[in-house]
Amino acid sequence: MFKKILIANRGEIALRIQRACREMGIQSVVVYSEADRDAKYVKLADEAVCIGPAPSAQSYLHMPAIISAAEVTDAEAIHPGYGFLSENADFAERVEQSGFVFIGPTPASIRVMGDKVSAKQAMIKSGVPCVPGSEGALPEDPKEIIRIARSIGYPVIIKASGGGGGRGMRIVHTEAAVIHAVQTTRTEAGAAFGNPTVYMEKFLEHPRHIEIQILADTHKNAVWLGERDCSMQRRHQKIIEEAPAPGIPRRVIEKVGERCAAACKKIGYRGAGTFEFLYENGEFFFIEMNTRVQVEHPVTEMTSGIDIVQMQIRVAAGEKLPFTQRQIEMRGHAIECRINAEDPVKFIPSPGRITTWHAPGGPGVRVDSHIYTNYFVPPNYDSMIGKIIVHGDTRDQALARMRTALSETVIEGINTNIPLHRELMVDAKFVEGCTDIHYLESWMAARKR
Ligand code: ADP
Repeated sequence: MFKKILIANRGEIALRIQRACREMGIQSVVVYSEADRDAKYVKLADEAVCIGPAPSAQSYLHMPAIISAAEVTDAEAIHPGYGFLSENADFAERVEQSGFVFIGPTPASIRVMGDKVSAKQAMIKSGVPCVPGSEGALPEDPKEIIRIARSIGYPVIIKASGGGGGRGMRIVHTEAAVIHAVQTTRTEAGAAFGNPTVYMEKFLEHPRHIEIQILADTHKNAVWLGERDCSMQRRHQKIIEEAPAPGIPRRVIEKVGERCAAACKKIGYRGAGTFEFLYENGEFFFIEMNTRVQVEHPVTEMTSGIDIVQMQIRVAAGEKLPFTQRQIEMRGHAIECRINAEDPVKFIPSPGRITTWHAPGGPGVRVDSHIYTNYFVPPNYDSMIGKIIVHGDTRDQALARMRTALSETVIEGINTNIPLHRELMVDAKFVEGCTDIHYLESWMAARKR
């Protein structure tokens, strides 16, 4: 096992990874920007290295600074967390070329999955169900494009192969609009992602977002740890996640979960990963794979009892997964609310000093957050300042625990989306379960009137 790991991230996930290291008797080195000098994980770390000024481009995205920090502290491995460089194949490659272990998949796996056309092709080959669409990139010939769109059936969605973060997509309802839409998406994708390749898919009107968590080691073992329902989204950003997904027959989930684990073996995947699907009318359709730990990993940890971050570290150190699929038992129901420093109605970011912080507690309540009273939320980064996660025997119990937890939580000095979560936890449709990916936005539109 490693003696020392460098954490190339910030915020709650830097603290989360540090906790995993501490439990495993591994020393942790954190890197921080000047804006994060007073952060909790910096104070708690065994070693901390300042890697640059506040802007991410000059700190958390600055590869040479991170690699030199690993060199000067004699770290053996680098954990990238999520966001920043976590899905950057060039970074993974540079980490390995510099003699460190990258806690994540191989650069080649990241590259295949980072390009949506190649990811989809790999999935089709591995027997994972995908959204019906063009076989690979769209050709230049307009007649051919129209033929493909007709065979898929309208509405269709044009997506950039290099897209991400919900950008680089265009929905087309009629044949008259298709050529123009393809051209515009190509131009935009070339400018935004440096890759003008686009592909076409059937546009699903009312899907849910369901994802499968997997873990794979370097000894040809791969397992899936159940699913998560992340349909509560605003502008493609998840805000509430839960496990298991309400109302989906177990055998349907099991079939797709087994396919995901089998695909991991087939492509030689290692580490933690997530297969994201749209689910509509009883069918799963793969959209993309995330080759890293996800924000919402705690709901799976609560239901499976497995520490996903520790597993990432073990697998990176060459250990075998300590369990087989049959030994994995999912128990109860977990819900996560992402706490963002933002206005609960207008969503304007609200950085600043936290004057009061009372965390919730009690049975089945987990808080993953790096904030404290008097902490200054810097304006430079993502607005998420923590997550409240609850676990109960049933979904009803988990909902009740979340309501209690949210009623106890006090954050003063900045605005947060806690009032929004309080409303959603008593919303009849959400409480019923099975809301689709458009539900939250239509709920908000209705609230405005
Ligand atoms: P990104 O990497 O930008 O997040 P995804 O491929 O994961 O891109 O798609 C992001 C979101 O766009 C999905 O969660 C879904 O809301 C919507 N979307 C993508 N593909 C389709 C589709 N074929 N039909 C309907 N909605 C889609």
